[in-house]
Amino acid sequence: MKQIVHTAFVAVALLVARSPAIANDLADNVAIVGAEVLQVDCACWASAQTIVLTGNRIAAVGPQDQIAVPQNARRIDASGKYVIPGLWDAHIHSRYEGIDHLRLLIAHGVTATRDLGGPWEHLPELVLWRDEIAAGTRVGPRLWTAGTVLNNPGSDWSHITIVHEPQEARTAVQRLSREGADFVKVYSDLSPENYYAIIDEAKRLGLQVDGHDPRTIPPLEASKAGQRTIEHAREVALALVDGEIPELENGYTDWVALEGRLSDEKADRLARIFRENGTWLDPTLHLRRHFIAIGEKSDTVLASPALRFIPAPYLNEWSRRAEGETSVEKLAQWHANLAVESEAVRMLSERGVPIIAGTDTVKPFFVPGFALHDELAALVEAGLSTGDAIRAATITPSRMMGVEDLGLIQPGFLADLLVLDGDPLANIAETRNIVVVVANGRVFDRATLQALKVDLVREAALWNGEPTGR
Ligand SMILES: [Zn+2]
Repeated sequence: MKQIVHTAFVAVALLVARSPAIANDLADNVAIVGAEVLQVDCACWASAQTIVLTGNRIAAVGPQDQIAVPQNARRIDASGKYVIPGLWDAHIHSRYEGIDHLRLLIAHGVTATRDLGGPWEHLPELVLWRDEIAAGTRVGPRLWTAGTVLNNPGSDWSHITIVHEPQEARTAVQRLSREGADFVKVYSDLSPENYYAIIDEAKRLGLQVDGHDPRTIPPLEASKAGQRTIEHAREVALALVDGEIPELENGYTDWVALEGRLSDEKADRLARIFRENGTWLDPTLHLRRHFIAIGEKSDTVLASPALRFIPAPYLNEWSRRAEGETSVEKLAQWHANLAVESEAVRMLSERGVPIIAGTDTVKPFFVPGFALHDELAALVEAGLSTGDAIRAATITPSRMMGVEDLGLIQPGFLADLLVLDGDPLANIAETRNIVVVVANGRVFDRATLQALKVDLVREAALWNGEPTGR
């Protein structure tokens, strides 16, 4: 690891001298000409299309020979390129000082995101970011935030706000509402009394409740209670197991013994209840693959080129935490855990449960934005089609968040889109090969994206603070 950090510094020293300004191009009219445009319903392409953007909206989409390019429009030639809606990372945590989430997300094609909470004192900053991004005065993805994470005593993490009894839980929800949070985040250790108090108070104030499925509340009950999303796939996977859940001597779930034991009947029932209540699943599958890769000391993670965006103090801390061997038994459990969760996600997706793509950045060696493309790959590896995976990061989270005019390339929709070099329906890894990002009408072309990345690397190298977010 030391060597990686060192190399990053050298690279950065060369770049500092140039220190490019970031161009923010918000032309009145933009025409993207000659593109293959994703049709979400059929997961297929409409060929040789022109997309006209006016301000932050898509004004027109159609065959190149039928759509007139406005005279003063900025013209972007996209022949042979592929246009998809801007991507969501539907699960981030942004309270990591020195890691520039907002611009990193944009640089990687993430134009909308849901922040699942941080320390309470971070909320005013999040609200400011959200409003400045919406006003066009700050570069970043559309942002919704939980503000903080509500939990009973049990987990020691700076993002968590502890509530001890129902009245305190209600007061916390009231404060979140007052201070501008967009929804409420619940966590694993909540007691039923506190959980239902939060749900009730949030309903009263018109706020949705997203989050972990608390250990004391089975997923069926969380769905019936009206929790909008279930974050992570662990609890839903366990809910599909036929019979007893075997435990290891240390009390952990024996995932190896659970492989091949998920029940179709249970999946039918859970999917039906989720559909009836409008419950969305954000499985964060890549997180499992990621920790396996760290355990296996894989260079794809530990020496990822994306780590140049992360300041050295974080890399040093993450390296320390990744020291030591992970036992063969533990790795076998992690692999089985990933396999069982992936199977559960595939079964529920096939039964119509809406899946949304989220990453849970930041975690050790995770890079905001970069990680979303890994999650898309994990969803495909789990058995979703490439079209399903793209839907999970575009139209599905937009609908989940109640934004009716986001997530499709259609007239009247908000102008969030990516121009890609290759066909992501043929190979999901092509979502990484971004030529142009349009975020709320603002165009980041290849040169601007390159300059943005150079600036991000430079800033990361200059940051020498104390890592936060633990
Ligand atoms: Zn999270």
